[in-house]
Amino acid sequence: MKKSSNQRSKKNTNHPQTRNGRSGARMNQTSKSRSAKPAAPKPKPVKTKKSPAAASSEHTQVIQWYPGHMTKTKRRIEKDLKLVDAVAEIIDARIPISSRNPDIARLTTGKPRIVLLNKCDMADPRTTAQWVSFLSRENVRAIPVDCKSGRGVDRFVPVLTEMLSERIESYKAKGMVNPSMRVMIVGIPNVGKSTFINRISKKTKANAADRPGVTRGNQWFTVSKGFEMLDTPGVLWPKFDDQTVGEHLAFTGAIKSEVMDTELLAIRLLDLLKELRTSEFEERYKLSEDDFTLPSYELLEKIARNRGMLISGGEADSERAAYTLLDEFRAAKLGRITLEKP
Ligand code: GDP
Repeated sequence: MKKSSNQRSKKNTNHPQTRNGRSGARMNQTSKSRSAKPAAPKPKPVKTKKSPAAASSEHTQVIQWYPGHMTKTKRRIEKDLKLVDAVAEIIDARIPISSRNPDIARLTTGKPRIVLLNKCDMADPRTTAQWVSFLSRENVRAIPVDCKSGRGVDRFVPVLTEMLSERIESYKAKGMVNPSMRVMIVGIPNVGKSTFINRISKKTKANAADRPGVTRGNQWFTVSKGFEMLDTPGVLWPKFDDQTVGEHLAFTGAIKSEVMDTELLAIRLLDLLKELRTSEFEERYKLSEDDFTLPSYELLEKIARNRGMLISGGEADSERAAYTLLDEFRAAKLGRITLEKP
């Protein structure tokens, strides 16, 4: 039986931890509810059948990611937070756990928060719906959006208006005429903040970039009558030592794959794709039933050969296949795949 989407079954109530032991971001810290709630599950690699030949796919690579500007960015967010009434956190619907900055919850404590599950065009729709329900049970309003096409974005202002209705009323009660609510966008690099701002402001001021780590200066945008938005550079957690989080970020292109060995990364992705087995994956690389029993590094070679990627002597060009696989996964050509379930 082919599966059209990936699903993992194991639950784990831990959350990715930062290196210094701080607990990861919780999804439940809105102004309504800041009591302790179960944290989001920690992403775990899909288990694959072991064979001696599969050993190469079990190699681990420690991903260290600590751009120097992060501390400065966090200080700036803390400063900017004093200016806003609410926070809109953009996460990647394909990796809702790994694409969250664990510091965001602490940084934004006390601010109403709305979560945008972006890139939902590339995520498995059923899992996205499960995430919306999960977050709603945690008292977090979440909206699936596809900022590229604009799908779902029109729900942003109505949901925000509802969330902030008490605040708007209290401003009015204090005598403010037409109070303007200010919102701050947060998210890790490359999650779609600029694209969202371009969409919502109907201007092309913010610079959407294909590469992570593009920084911008703060600007206010008028979203609609009574709403203004602050464009803030995204933050990735300063350090993490969770292998799976790092891999998921690399698979989706949130962190530069140059920091890792591309072939090893592709092999790790194949470990997952073999389990998920989307029809797109199977058909695109012309894979047979037997191919799914191959160790991942052999499968990568098979993909190279099936795609005519050969080096002199007729050997499979697995490096080129690795780049292709990652590119095609990032472009959702292997199906709408969500790597993390609630
Ligand atoms: P930022 O670093 O958070 O500002 O991210 P960008 O807005 O620059 O977006 C990073 C990349 O993701 C760009 O190539 C966007 O076109 C792409 N992108 C953003 N939102 C979506 C979306 O909803 N769907 C898809 N498929 N791509 C998106």
